[in-house]
Amino acid sequence: MHQPDITPRQSLYFDYQIYPPAPLPPESAERAPVVVVGAGPIGLALALDLARHGVRVVLLTAGQQVSEGSRAIVFTRRSLEILQQVGADSVLVEQGLPWRFGTSFYRGQAVFRLEAPHDPHDRYAPMNNLQQQVLEASMLALIARQPLIELRWGHRVAALACDEQEARLTIETPDGVYTQRASWVVACDGARSSLRQLQGLQLEGESWQGRFVIADIKIDLPLPTERLAFFDPAWNPGNTVLMHREPFGIWRIDYQLPPDETPEEALQPASLAARINAQLQSIGFGDKPWTMDWCSVYSARALTLADYLQQRVIYCGDAAHLLPIFGVRGANTGFQDAQNLAWKLAAHVQGKAPLALLQSYSTERVAAAREIVAEAGKSTRFMTPPTPGFRLLRDATLSLALSQDFVRPLMHWRSSRPHEYLHSPLNSDDDDSAQFPQGPAPGAVMPSVRMAADHYLLDESHTGFTLLTFSDRPVAPEIALAAEQWRAQGGLLKIVTLPLAVANGEAWARYGVQADGAAYLVRPDQHVCARWRQLTPARLLHALARALGDATPEKTT
Ligand SMILES: Cc1cc2nc3c(=O)[nH]c(=O)nc-3n(C[C@H](O)[C@H](O)[C@H](O)COP(=O)(O)OP(=O)(O)OC[C@H]3O[C@@H](n4cnc5c(N)ncnc54)[C@H](O)[C@@H]3O)c2cc1C
Repeated sequence: MHQPDITPRQSLYFDYQIYPPAPLPPESAERAPVVVVGAGPIGLALALDLARHGVRVVLLTAGQQVSEGSRAIVFTRRSLEILQQVGADSVLVEQGLPWRFGTSFYRGQAVFRLEAPHDPHDRYAPMNNLQQQVLEASMLALIARQPLIELRWGHRVAALACDEQEARLTIETPDGVYTQRASWVVACDGARSSLRQLQGLQLEGESWQGRFVIADIKIDLPLPTERLAFFDPAWNPGNTVLMHREPFGIWRIDYQLPPDETPEEALQPASLAARINAQLQSIGFGDKPWTMDWCSVYSARALTLADYLQQRVIYCGDAAHLLPIFGVRGANTGFQDAQNLAWKLAAHVQGKAPLALLQSYSTERVAAAREIVAEAGKSTRFMTPPTPGFRLLRDATLSLALSQDFVRPLMHWRSSRPHEYLHSPLNSDDDDSAQFPQGPAPGAVMPSVRMAADHYLLDESHTGFTLLTFSDRPVAPEIALAAEQWRAQGGLLKIVTLPLAVANGEAWARYGVQADGAAYLVRPDQHVCARWRQLTPARLLHALARALGDATPEKTT
């Protein structure tokens, strides 16, 4: 019998609620189109997105409360744009702390300051700090109002069987065991994914030796919200320390441990106090009182499954990949997975798209994870050099940056960013992309443009495709007719016309449009899939068919 822990987790700023376990469903319950396993941030976002696309979701989660401790605290602009689509961005806007600078210190001296790009056409700040469990709680409030989602607290998946038609999950609850049938199961069950183990899947990539303590303390520090990195501080020689401000008077201090120290030793209260005091002392706040809220030990891994589609199970978030938190990649990457998957899975279960569309989720997101694995290796080697040679190089770069300006641009955020599906099979093979001097190529995220005081181009996105036409005239009747034909077959397509005057020409400039008549086709997840200097109805219908997973629609040119 599964008995989740029902003692509320302790926190200085967050009231943990115990959610009652869901009763056993009736034995006659029919097969669910989609079961999502895991109500962490990614399972919650995916369930909301599937429901937005009209799909009924059973959401199972083993525990009866939200996640322990702050865990992910930095959410990127792209994550907010994704959460906006499911109506979950407001908690980050209202309670989060926006920021865009990072200062790095080497042996106590500031060596460089990085600035994340931001301009008036972005609705959100590049980075936004909020504790993960606060975000989860706000998504749960949205789920409670969503009739298409049935959330079952305290239901743990213990076994799995799949055939051509369906998956059968054996589920343990405090009241007994039952079987849930599903056309598709999405594994959002986190880093130690039970489903991954039940299917005997191996992750590929790298794990590193370096361990970090992550400590959240309540303290009043008169410092701005930015990322502070301390390389080789006197109190922790050879190691790295990071600090971030969180809402509710909390600061996170991450410090690297010597290689021979165990997590148990590191989490002893005396050891924690000595190191936190040493860090505060080193930045001139040794006299400030503080209280521990939560702490944990973390080590960096950069691993992914080679294929996110395994029989009737689809992997998403930490269940699919484990990425280093340097560069804020964990939850932020997972939101991109969820957004990529939701519209494709919805189209497939609603009979509007072939299995190939679902397979493109794996192709696109595994490629993204592999790119991150390669990049994350660089960040992690910089933060925790694995050999004396890497340390020598890293220290030489940092010490040179003390006196030489030319070194500074070599420092790079390498933080989580939206991935570009440049080689996606969903991109049109019949467009004019090569003739655009700039603007987003097929596969990239559509850039936002501020169109009015509180209205941005990204606000126009919806559950279907969007055709952006750059023209001072209304859309041509033959294009409107083709759109009508496509809608009549169940497709969703919205046409947004952008005259040259919009945002003082900025929309045309950002999309590399040089003459009236250009057009972009954008997928439901805001990624471009085709662009033309001149559009014809046949080219539009061809691009739409291809973007829905039809690899061989008839070409027109
Ligand atoms: C200390 C720490 C700090 C971090 N800092 C950052 C950061 O700054 N930025 C960032 O982007 N990321 C960060 N991360 C990573 C981030 O927390 C994860 O990437 C994120 O939680 C992944 O979300 P998820 O929904 O995929 O999995 P999880 O949040 O792990 O959720 C998994 C869910 O599955 C449920 N579950 C598990 N097994 C079963 C089962 N058998 N049956 C039913 N339900 C099950 C669990 O109860 C849970 O609800 C951090 C992580 C840690 C540990």
